[in-house]
Amino acid sequence: MAPRKQKVPSMAQSTAPPESPRACVIGAGLGGLALAIRLQAAGVPTVLIEARAEPGGMIRTWQQDGFTFHAGPAAIADPAPLRELWSLTGEDLADRLALVEVAPAWRCSWPDGSVLDLPADPAQLARLAPDDLAGYEEFLEWCAASRGDGWQRPAESPGGDLVTALQSLPAVLRHKGWRSAAGLAASLVRSDRLREALTVPLLGAGGNPRSAPALQLLGQLPPALGPAWWPLGGMGALVDALAQRFVALGGELRLHDPVVRIETVGNRATAVECASGWRSAVTQVASNADVVHTWRDLLGGAGFGAERARKLMARRFSPSAFTVHFALEGTWPGIPHRSILFGPRYAGLLDDVFTHGVLPQDQLILLAHPSLTDPELAPPGKSVFSATVPVANLTKLPIDWEVVGPVLQKRVLAEIGRRLVPDISDRIVTAFHTTPRDLALDFNAWAGAAWSLEAIPTQSGPLRPHQRDGKLANLTLVGAGTHPGAGVAAVLASAKGAAALMLENAK
Ligand SMILES: Cc1cc2nc3c(=O)[nH]c(=O)nc-3n(C[C@H](O)[C@H](O)[C@H](O)COP(=O)(O)OP(=O)(O)OC[C@H]3O[C@@H](n4cnc5c(N)ncnc54)[C@H](O)[C@@H]3O)c2cc1C
Repeated sequence: MAPRKQKVPSMAQSTAPPESPRACVIGAGLGGLALAIRLQAAGVPTVLIEARAEPGGMIRTWQQDGFTFHAGPAAIADPAPLRELWSLTGEDLADRLALVEVAPAWRCSWPDGSVLDLPADPAQLARLAPDDLAGYEEFLEWCAASRGDGWQRPAESPGGDLVTALQSLPAVLRHKGWRSAAGLAASLVRSDRLREALTVPLLGAGGNPRSAPALQLLGQLPPALGPAWWPLGGMGALVDALAQRFVALGGELRLHDPVVRIETVGNRATAVECASGWRSAVTQVASNADVVHTWRDLLGGAGFGAERARKLMARRFSPSAFTVHFALEGTWPGIPHRSILFGPRYAGLLDDVFTHGVLPQDQLILLAHPSLTDPELAPPGKSVFSATVPVANLTKLPIDWEVVGPVLQKRVLAEIGRRLVPDISDRIVTAFHTTPRDLALDFNAWAGAAWSLEAIPTQSGPLRPHQRDGKLANLTLVGAGTHPGAGVAAVLASAKGAAALMLENAK
């Protein structure tokens, strides 16, 4: 179970009179924060409302006994969109937050002890996949050639509608964007392990490497396959910086007050109401909250809301995540910032998690060791880790996580012990876990899905819920459930697109 003590950022919550109409962003996840900053920086008075006591959404922080634990992304693949966002506020991000290199960006290791660091260590690559040196180079070339017009531009374009899709069609054809990530890797390299290593980052965005479009991989890979990045103080420090910047710009941040209703008149959202009874007229509304929650619970009274939610619930949602947070005695310079501990199976395990709704006996562990990069996250001589295992969501695997959680925690720690820290049980200072049930209850995430709708071709681009809804002229969606999808890069791109739509409306 998670520790009770939560980190609550110190920030003034401004108190503009509730009558003054303004734009409202529901949910202060990364997508909501980025959108609210863009609106406020452009001169649109904005209120950002968060259900929880702290902003950040799935990027979550706990502090306990001198340790800072993190849930969510273990590194940022590309800091450029964050820098661009910050520059809109008239400041340089570097003046507020230090981003440090994480290299290798990730280490892959297999049960037989073989290892590959990425960006590829030439000696390791030659040992692991001697026939694939040219194929690896081709993979890098494909990434470099496709990143701009195959991923970034369409991702940042507002809407993800048919017009956008048609505009990006030439790039999709040029980069063979219809292929899955696994299909792309299979066409370039022969080694199964190298294929696994190149496609596994998609799991960070909730995509199945076997079925998610290859272009989606680009959001998860550092540009030119260089290092990844970590904000000193942790991802929580990044969230705090964003929230404080929004307030400093004059935005109103309401924490710990869930929106319970979006009021509508005709084809317009007119007001939002919170659990506390606080209510405000709004000119425009954006929802960063889960898409099913938005339609079913916040717009359920509008008639069409329930119908939309029913259709959404019939679609394929991403897996969930089971995470063990733990602190160890000792420091572990040999364990990199981010590792992937593959199990004996890859394709079969992905099928179990994404398709069959089975809790596998074997494991694929995404292991983060942030205190390696950022020693202040743990007391001297100690270390902090998180180990995430993708698991089927609650609709596919309706098990009692209160019972299964402690068992799975033991299994995950035992596997890390076998592979990396032989005397782990003697070294554990503290450990707790979060389950799909926590994601559902803490964030209103439908089915406890950690990445909202799954990234499959039939739920991507124009087939993903659009950012601008057809029913309500002034409702915009932002974040993982809408265009272009989940993950840090996609959610930041989504905020850029949403802001463009809302600023156009505000003219
Ligand atoms: C374990 C895990 C590992 C991950 N690893 C990676 C990774 O390696 N790389 C990567 O790129 N991404 C990763 N992600 C995904 C990434 O963190 C998310 O895609 C991203 O943070 C989602 O941001 P968001 O703004 O769309 O939504 P969320 O973070 O879900 O934020 C939505 C917010 O809305 C709030 N809300 C809900 N209902 C209401 C309401 N009624 N009123 C007010 N507020 C409400 C919620 O409390 C929440 O704060 C990971 C996620 C998880 C869970």
